[in-house]
Amino acid sequence: MKRRKNTLLKGLIIVIILTIISLFTYQIKNNIKGESVQTSTNENLDLVKNNNEEGPFNGTEVTDEDMGVIVLGYHSIGNEFKKDPLVVSKDLFRQHLQAIKDAGYTTITLQQLYDYLYNGAKIPKKSVVITLDDGYKDNYTNAFPILKELKMNATMFIIANYLDGGVYMLPSQVKEMSDYGIEIESHTFNHKELSTLSYDDQLKQLKDSKTKLENLTGKSINFVAYPSGSYNEDTLKAVKEAGYDMAFTVKKGQAHKGDNKYKLNRVLVDYTYKQRHIKRNLK
Ligand SMILES: [Zn+2]
Repeated sequence: MKRRKNTLLKGLIIVIILTIISLFTYQIKNNIKGESVQTSTNENLDLVKNNNEEGPFNGTEVTDEDMGVIVLGYHSIGNEFKKDPLVVSKDLFRQHLQAIKDAGYTTITLQQLYDYLYNGAKIPKKSVVITLDDGYKDNYTNAFPILKELKMNATMFIIANYLDGGVYMLPSQVKEMSDYGIEIESHTFNHKELSTLSYDDQLKQLKDSKTKLENLTGKSINFVAYPSGSYNEDTLKAVKEAGYDMAFTVKKGQAHKGDNKYKLNRVLVDYTYKQRHIKRNLK
């Protein structure tokens, strides 16, 4: 009888101990869970706060006041130095980008420039835009790796009908860069000087290139650079009718709030352009 009682008591003690252990484990688990939920909520809140305050320019001083933004215009990024106004060597291109970075500038996209100029959005006080015209193959082989390495934005104005894989890029290379985040925009269908064309032909150049590049990238094409900077009164109407939001000339100057959105200035860059010119222009 006594032995049976002892066995029962032992059993009871084991049950009690097991219950206490499982209660403890449950409590600890819940505490950890509670903590992790708490943490992620805080992180989300921080994210929302940052987005509301500064958008994509986290940590940089931003403004919506008019300050004049430089839109740099490159063409070919060559393998070596060449005395050609359309060629900047990849070494010089890298030096330019490094100088921009060292001066504390942010390379913004044309969409960000548009939102700043015409929609009251804020951009960093030190903002600059990098554009490359014509869609040369070396923009993919030489410029793209440097842009990736230095984590900088750029816009490529592509001649929609010139994607031959010879002097110019392949469609697949344009698509790859677009997917990466390089802004692809229009440089018309086949690079005719727009001011020499009829209104209808201008409209066709602008519309056909927009459609072709939109089909290729799967993204909306909103901006255009006029070939050789050539435009007339018809161009200003055609570019609007074709559905573009901004257009760029090659007239030297900054982009300011209140500028006509269909004839914005740029600063063309060639092989004579040194780091000190970048520094001077950015000031
Ligand atoms: Zn061009």
